[in-house]
This record gives sequence, structure tokens and C-alpha cells, in this order.
Amino acid sequence: MEIAGAGTYITGMSEASALEPADRVSLIGMDRAELARAVAEIGESEKAAKLRAKQLWHWIYHHGVDDFARMSSLNGPLRQALADAYTLARPEIARLQKSTDGTRKWLLRFIDGQEAESVFIPEEDRGALCMSAQVGCTLSCRFCHTGTQRMVRNLDAREIISQFLVARDSYGEWPSPRDGRMISNIVMMGMGEPLFNYDNVAKAIRIAMDREGLSISRRRITLSTAGVAPLIERCGAELGVGLAISLHAVTDDLRDELMPINRKYPLAALLDACRRYPGATNARRITFEYVMLKGINDSPADAKALVQLIAGIPAKINLIPFNAWPGAPYECSPTEDIARFAAIVNKAGYSSPVRAPRGRDILAACGQLRSHSMRAPRSAGAAKSPPPPAPRAAIS
Ligand code: SF4
Repeated sequence: MEIAGAGTYITGMSEASALEPADRVSLIGMDRAELARAVAEIGESEKAAKLRAKQLWHWIYHHGVDDFARMSSLNGPLRQALADAYTLARPEIARLQKSTDGTRKWLLRFIDGQEAESVFIPEEDRGALCMSAQVGCTLSCRFCHTGTQRMVRNLDAREIISQFLVARDSYGEWPSPRDGRMISNIVMMGMGEPLFNYDNVAKAIRIAMDREGLSISRRRITLSTAGVAPLIERCGAELGVGLAISLHAVTDDLRDELMPINRKYPLAALLDACRRYPGATNARRITFEYVMLKGINDSPADAKALVQLIAGIPAKINLIPFNAWPGAPYECSPTEDIARFAAIVNKAGYSSPVRAPRGRDILAACGQLRSHSMRAPRSAGAAKSPPPPAPRAAIS
């Protein structure tokens, strides 16, 4: 179905060639050692399994193949044995929306019926895929639509990296191009707090960075956190990706209110963790995200306090005009207030771009993601929960 107007709205479609069957194990999201074990389990010797895993990796992540029959470097009986035991199918695309500005939003439905969204934000000749780490979120930031949805569950590595595969399928960017890619960057800024699902997120990011596969450089990957201070340093040391902090307030009182995680990890602890972030330099600055809320955090005094707060940290400040959603308790700051705030921060030596809202017409902008998924009652068992009903937002 397509509804003309602000955005294009396509529902119940699948761009992927096959949907994930429930009776076969997915090889997507496995690391190389796990792939080798999977191949050994269907009868290959340990030595051969290592080579086969390398070939499989290349087919899955370099060529984007989702059908074992197309893996021409593997012999026929092995291809058949793989197809009998395993799958490379993508999650179902429950809904795809295309904004008038080119932004695309996928609502993906996983095998247990739970759903999460990912968003591609195109620039002229490249763009960033914003991926989700969880279904729902525990953190309930007050300005965030996802925060109104209760935490349902973590996404596993397969579900996280599948978001990238689906987006690349959509743009037909296979085999993984070395240069000139449309989907050139990854931002872990979608639904959920990535550092509360660190192991799965780290595994997916390592797959994305592997040079024999998707080959997205760590310089093109950014992980955004609401402020899980104890894991920030580990993330830098182990993954070396860019760091973004959802800051949004310059006093603990206000941040406690806007972002309840601040009660556990207050500003001092958060900024201390940022100061220790491995690899943060002037060439590789930490991004502080700051949503502009009218009359709440947008005064000149707030701007000056912000500059003092981040002193000594190689940083840039992304100012985000608040993207409203149905029932949102805040309004966006007026344009002139945002400009005044940006000028103060800029004068202090920090880059302070005002982020152009993208995909507002399809609720794909920053802080607007949400799915219908709900935690199943314990007795029903989450894995058996039925797919949720009709799509959430009518686009007109
Ligand atoms: S801003 Fe991020 S951490 Fe906060 S509620 Fe939204 S998704 Fe969760």
C-alpha cells in the first residue's frame, strides 16, 4: 500500500528474497569460529571447516548472498547440506517507509514476532544507517519516543547485523563496494541503549568492520550512549569506534529529570569516562548530542555551562531541534534560540552544527523510533508471542 503525501508508506512487503524459517539455524551473526563449528557439525573435517567458514564469510558478507545454491565455490553436496541445516534469510520487512527527503525506515519483524526499526539517512552520495540495539528501551528518556515503549528484549548479533544486510539489499550494494558506497556509515543510535546489550552489539560491530566482508571502517561507526559510564572505556578499547553521548542537560537536576540514567551515572562520572575514552583526539572528537527543548535547556546560560562542562574533551556538539511525536511533553526551541546557543558554543571553539531534521514525515527522525512490540506475559513465553497488529502511524 502506498499513501501519497508527506511520505511514502509501504506495508507488508519484503524486499528480501526469503523470510527466515523457524526450523533452521541462521548463520548470520556468527563469528568465524562459530561458522567453522557450524560447518563441522554437518560433516566437514575440522581442517576443511576452517576454509569453508572463510568461503562462507565471503559469500555472506562480501557478496550478500542469502541462498546457498549461489555459492559457486562450494561443492554441490555441501551447499545442499548447508541449506538443509541452516538459513541466511533476512528478517521480515513488516513495513518500509520512504520520506520525501530520501530517508528510509524499515520496521523489521524477527522470528519471535518482535519488531525494531532502522533508518537510513542519505546524504548526496553516501549515508548513515541508524541501527537499533534493543526492542524498546529501559531508560525512559523523557524526550524520546522509544522511551515510552517498555523494554522487551535485547537484539542478538544476528538481528543487529541483519539491519545492515536488509539496508544493503535495498540499495543493491553487493558485492561490498570498496569505494563510492551509499551506505557508508553506521550509527548505533536507534532503539535501545547499545551499552546495555554490549556483547551482541560488539559482535555485530566486529562483523561490520571485518575487511573480508562488509568492511565498514571503525572510523565510520559511531556508538551512541545515554551514559552507561562504566562501559564507555571498554567500548573504546575493544572496538575503537566513534563515541556519541546523549547529553541534553548541563546540570544533574535537569538531566535526572530528562534522562533517569543520570541518577545512576551522574554528569561527573559520565564526563570522567569521556575524558578517558581511548582514541579521542582533536581529529577524532567525541560527539555530544544536545536536543533543543524550548524553555528547558536552551538558554545562553545553558550554552555557557555546557562549554565549561566539557572543557578539556576533544568534542563537537550536535544540536538537535526536538522532533515531536504524538503526546510528546516538550516543544522544539525556536530557531533563533538554537542559533544563539550554537553561536555561544561555537565561539568557545567547539563545532556546533544544528542537525537538519530528517525523515520527520515518517517518524524516522532522532528520538522518534518506536515499534508495537510488547513484552509477552511470562506464562505465554516471549518466543511464542504472535506478531503485533497493524502498523502504528498513519502517514497522510
Ligand atoms: S534516547 Fe536512547 S536511551 Fe533514551 S529512551 Fe530513547 S532509545 Fe532509550
